[in-house]
Amino acid sequence: MIDLTLLGCGGGMPMPNRYLSALCISYKGRKILVDCGEGTQVSMRMCNLGFKTIDIICITHIHGDHIVGLPGLLGTIGNSGRTEPLTIIGPIGITEAVKGLRVIANWLPYEINVIENPKETVLAYDDEIEIDTLEVDHSSPCIGYSFYLKRMAKFDVDKAIKNEVPKQLWSKLQKSNEEIEFQGKRYAPEMVKGVERKGIKISMITDTRPTEKMVPFIKESDLLVCEGTYGDDGDIEKAIKNKHMTFREAATLAKKAKVEKLLLTHFSTAMDSPEIYINNAIEVFKNTIIGEDRLELNLTFKE
Ligand SMILES: [Zn+2]
Ligand SMILES: [Zn+2]
Repeated sequence: MIDLTLLGCGGGMPMPNRYLSALCISYKGRKILVDCGEGTQVSMRMCNLGFKTIDIICITHIHGDHIVGLPGLLGTIGNSGRTEPLTIIGPIGITEAVKGLRVIANWLPYEINVIENPKETVLAYDDEIEIDTLEVDHSSPCIGYSFYLKRMAKFDVDKAIKNEVPKQLWSKLQKSNEEIEFQGKRYAPEMVKGVERKGIKISMITDTRPTEKMVPFIKESDLLVCEGTYGDDGDIEKAIKNKHMTFREAATLAKKAKVEKLLLTHFSTAMDSPEIYINNAIEVFKNTIIGEDRLELNLTFKE
């Protein structure tokens, strides 16, 4: 249903085995990219992910390790033949940053719409996906993202028959939020809709200290992609000073918000093998995965 590729899981500086922050969310052949650090294009090529179908680029903040890959990528998207407009969402300052980066990507065959620090839900793909943002606590304006793929309510045959809804309207009404007029009569979606069903929620939180506001924001995510800049508990002072998190802090956040799965990312360049610290997260939140470049995950609706 939704395919995720962690394109880069490094923080700070690209390493031979680790590119910088980027996550690709693929849905029905279209793509939303979150962050665009150096190496994003290389990872995309290695995974055979096409460039033309990137519709939305969400930037968490304007630190180089999250945005330096953007002008190159915008050019490649142009070379891939895209002419449809593309949306870039980001924190305060994103408009100016995109303008600056476009000095080296000035000719593009498509339009760019920038949404700076959105206060309302951004809707994508015929309102099927809701994108929400939350201001987080980093050394520059930074936002966390949540992506919610809605799921249609269950279809209730008995209800449809009882309400004398013509068969040709059944599927239309199930998908609709509005009444439909047919042969002089009005039919409401509630006349065929059964129980509501939970969709798929993905949250991405990087770079930041943990905050209380995050808990309701990421609540019950099927997947929380969260920074764990430091694996060692002993690096907590560094985490506080540099406005980042330790594995244990990310796991605590995952536990509080009752998420399904935690994927750690944005590893410090000083940490060669993040996996050796996994127990610091697992002790708090069992379903933790250590990110690696080009790790793929697949999320589907639950019954
Ligand atoms: Zn960073
Ligand atoms: Zn940062």
